[in-house]
Amino acid sequence: MRKESRQFFENLLHAPSLSGFEQPLQRVVRDWVSPFADQVTTDVNGNVIAALNSTGSPRVMLAGHCDQIGLMIQHITDEGYVQFSAVGGIDAGVMPGVRVFIHSRQGLVNGVIGRKPIHLQTAEERRGEKFEMHKLWVDIGASSKQDALKRVEIGDPISFELGPFPLQGNLLAGAGMDDKAGVFVVMEALRLLSRRKPKCAVFSVSTVQEELGLRGARTAAYAVDPQVGIAVDVTFATDYPGVDKAQIGDIRVGKGPVIARGPNINPVLHDLLVAAAEKKKLPWQTEAVSRATGTDANAIQISREGVAAGLVSIPNRYMHTAIELISLKDLENTAALLAETVASITPDTDFTPL
Ligand SMILES: [Zn+2]
Repeated sequence: MRKESRQFFENLLHAPSLSGFEQPLQRVVRDWVSPFADQVTTDVNGNVIAALNSTGSPRVMLAGHCDQIGLMIQHITDEGYVQFSAVGGIDAGVMPGVRVFIHSRQGLVNGVIGRKPIHLQTAEERRGEKFEMHKLWVDIGASSKQDALKRVEIGDPISFELGPFPLQGNLLAGAGMDDKAGVFVVMEALRLLSRRKPKCAVFSVSTVQEELGLRGARTAAYAVDPQVGIAVDVTFATDYPGVDKAQIGDIRVGKGPVIARGPNINPVLHDLLVAAAEKKKLPWQTEAVSRATGTDANAIQISREGVAAGLVSIPNRYMHTAIELISLKDLENTAALLAETVASITPDTDFTPL
């Protein structure tokens, strides 16, 4: 991956972006994409829309959601411990023992999610405690409620510790790969397309609040009014112990973008994506989704009078934990696939399934 693009991705990973609190990350997006886009706008919900050749036809929307799951301060105990609720689908079982960042108005406050030592646990607790969010707490080192309130306040967002953790073989682990990987891809695709003079109009959107029900994509799709929309998200890799390929399929990290098929996907667009991958000799994988997907592609497809929707996903291990893992190679190949597909769309391309 080129140096500048990798730096952009790392900046995204360092930027806090809880659902509803995406502004720090959207600032990174606007700064990076402005030189390549004809116009960059931010709507009242916080979606960032980067437009290229906006008078072209048809109108194509690329969507990656910029919000990440996390926590929010709900209560502070008299002793100064911070109790929280979940923002998005968090597995309480992965919470104890992690480092967190509280993003307060005064800046970053470090915290850790504590747990009673194994020595002090009852036999029942040792056998496998069922973790419940409201029984956990963040320890910021405060001596009292009053002391804690000097640094943080009710409603502050809390993220896992942010930033990439490089592993062997071009892999990166870290919080929020879901879906900063997708934001990276749609903006990188716009950069690639800015050198190709596409016939269609391209709108790369960093959408907000996907984790709370595809809320940003819904309003952005109304505003952009596309005929074609491709969501880029992460999907479940099934290449580690204990996952059932019979449920999800055979999806591997590093083996290329995953092109979805199913009722949420326009068949003409699906075939265009596959043809573009084949033409450019890009690796790709397939995924069957037999229902409306849990991605922005769902909101986009049923916007206004209907949109030809596609879904391209980046294989991801350990989704919705502090150490989500992806391959940088997959990111590059996904951006190349999107650029190639969009460049092949002309005013004559008919997406009506006949
Ligand atoms: Zn996602």
